[in-house]
Amino acid sequence: MVAKLTHWIHGEAVAGASGRVSPVYNPAQGEVAAELPLASRDELDAAVASARAAFPAWAATPALRRARVLFKFKELLESHADELVEAISREHGKVRDDARGELTRGIEVVEFACGAPHLLKGEMCENVGSGVDSYSLRQPLGVVAGITPFNFPAMVPMWMFPVALAAGNCFILKPSEKVPSASLIIARLLKEAGLPDGVFNVVNGDKDTVEAILAHPDIQAVSFVGSTPIARHIYTVGTANGKRVQALGGAKNHMVVMPDADLDQAVDALMGAAYGSAGERCMAISVAVAVGDATADALIDRLAPKVRALKVAAWDAEGAEMGPLVTREHRDKVASYVEAGVKEGATLVVDGRALKVDGNQTGFFLGGCLFDHVSTDMTIYRDEIFGPVLAVVRAPDYESAVKLVNEHAFGNGTAIFTRDGDAARDFVHRIQVGMVGVNVPIPVPMAFMSFGGWKASLFGDHHAYGMEGVRFYTRLKTVTERWPQSIRAGAEFVMPTMK
Ligand code: NAD
Repeated sequence: MVAKLTHWIHGEAVAGASGRVSPVYNPAQGEVAAELPLASRDELDAAVASARAAFPAWAATPALRRARVLFKFKELLESHADELVEAISREHGKVRDDARGELTRGIEVVEFACGAPHLLKGEMCENVGSGVDSYSLRQPLGVVAGITPFNFPAMVPMWMFPVALAAGNCFILKPSEKVPSASLIIARLLKEAGLPDGVFNVVNGDKDTVEAILAHPDIQAVSFVGSTPIARHIYTVGTANGKRVQALGGAKNHMVVMPDADLDQAVDALMGAAYGSAGERCMAISVAVAVGDATADALIDRLAPKVRALKVAAWDAEGAEMGPLVTREHRDKVASYVEAGVKEGATLVVDGRALKVDGNQTGFFLGGCLFDHVSTDMTIYRDEIFGPVLAVVRAPDYESAVKLVNEHAFGNGTAIFTRDGDAARDFVHRIQVGMVGVNVPIPVPMAFMSFGGWKASLFGDHHAYGMEGVRFYTRLKTVTERWPQSIRAGAEFVMPTMK
C-alpha cells in the first residue's frame, strides 16, 4: 500500500492539489513506499501567506518564550526519536544507529537555539558623545525558506529552522522530495510544542517549487544545502532577486595520512568516514592522500580486507554497517564512476558492484569500492561521487599533499592524520578548506560553532548554525539616542562628531 504524503501549512497536514506527484522509495527494497505531492505556486503562496500573517506576533513574542517552545520541542524530538529514526532510515536507507546519530546532531542545534535570549543580545555603549548612548539590536528578517538535500532528512533542516525560529522568523521548509517524512513529523511536533500556526510550514516539491521560492517577493532569505551546481544557481538567482542567501554545496574531502600516523587509527577512521552512510555525506572522506609509497602500500593492505568485509544490509538488519544508495539512478551513477575510474587507469582494488544482499535483491545496494593509484586528472578524483568509493592518491611528500588539497575545486572538509604537531599546525594554517580535522576524520562542527566550506562548497557569506546562523537570520539595527536634557539648541549642518 503506497502512503499518500501531504504538505504542512498553517499548522495542519494539507493534501496536495496540484496533481503533480513524485514517488518516494524504500531503497532497501527498491520499491515505491509513498507518493509525495509537489506544490503548485498557489500552495506555496498559501504557506507564505500563513507565515507572513504569523510573523508580527511571533517576532514580538519575547525570546524567552520562543525558547520555551524549542525546549518543549527538544523533549518531543527525544520522546519520538524511534519514529523519526525509522522515517529517516526507511526513505534514505542509512542504518538505524547512523540515523540516530544524525537526529542527535540536529537536536544539538535545537539546544543551541534554546539560548535565544542570550544569542540575540546586542551591544551597548554609554556616552558615545556627551549625553548620547548607542546600542544595537538583532531583529528577525520575516519569512525565510530552507531547501534541503536527501542525505540528512532531519539534521540539515535542523541546521536551519531552530535558529531561524528562535530569532523570531517564520519558516518555509522545502525538504528533499526523496526523504520528506522526517520534516512532516517535525512539523507535527513543533505544533505539539506550542508553536503558533503558520510559523513553520512544509511545502513539498521539486525544482519548480524551488524556482517559485526564489521568485517569491515575500521570502526574505533562503538557506540551501545540496549539490554545487544547484547551490550556485540558488545563490545567483536568490541574490539577484534581493534575498539573503547561504547556499552550501558539494564536496570532495581529502584525508592526508602522514608516514608517522597511527595507521590502525587512520584505517578505522577511513572506513567510517568513507563508507558510513554509503558515502552519502557531504563530510565523507572520498580521497585518502597517502604521503609516501610505504604509507600507501600499508593503507591499501589494511583497508582492502575491511572493505571486502563491510556488512552491507537493510537499515534494520542486525549489525548492518552500510545501507543502500538512495535511488536506483544514483546507485547506477556511482557504479558508472567506478567504471570510469577503471577506464582512466586507476587500480580497482575492491569492486563492490556485483554485491547482492540476501532478502533485498531489488534494493539499491552497492558494495564498498576502493581505488589505488588515482591521479588528479581523473574524473573519479575531480567529481563528487557521493557513494561508497574511496580513492587513494599517492603523494611523494607533505608539500605535494597540501598542494593537491588546496588546488581542488571543493573546500568543505579535510583531515590530517599524524603525530607531528608541527605538520598538523602548518596544515591547519595553510589549508584552503572550511572545516579541518586533526586526527578527526569528519570534523563536523558542534552546534555552538558553525558549519561551512570554502570555494565551490559554499556560496554566500554565512556558514550554517552557531553564531553564523544567528547572524544570517537577523538584521543588525544600531540606535543612537539622546534625551531632551542633553540636547543643545540650534541646528547643525555638518557631519555629527563627538565634541
Ligand atoms: P540536490 O542539489 O540534487 O538537491 C538539493 C535540493 O535542491 C532538493 O531539495 C531538491 O529538490 C532541489 N533541487 C534539485 N534539483 C534542482 C534544480 N535543478 N533546481 C532547483 N532545485 C533543485 O542535492 P541532493 O542530491 O539532494 O543532496 C546531495 C548533495 O548535497 C551532495 O552534493 C552533497 O555534498 C550536498 N550536501 C552538502 C552539504 C554541505 O553542508 N555542504 C550537506 C549535505 C549535502
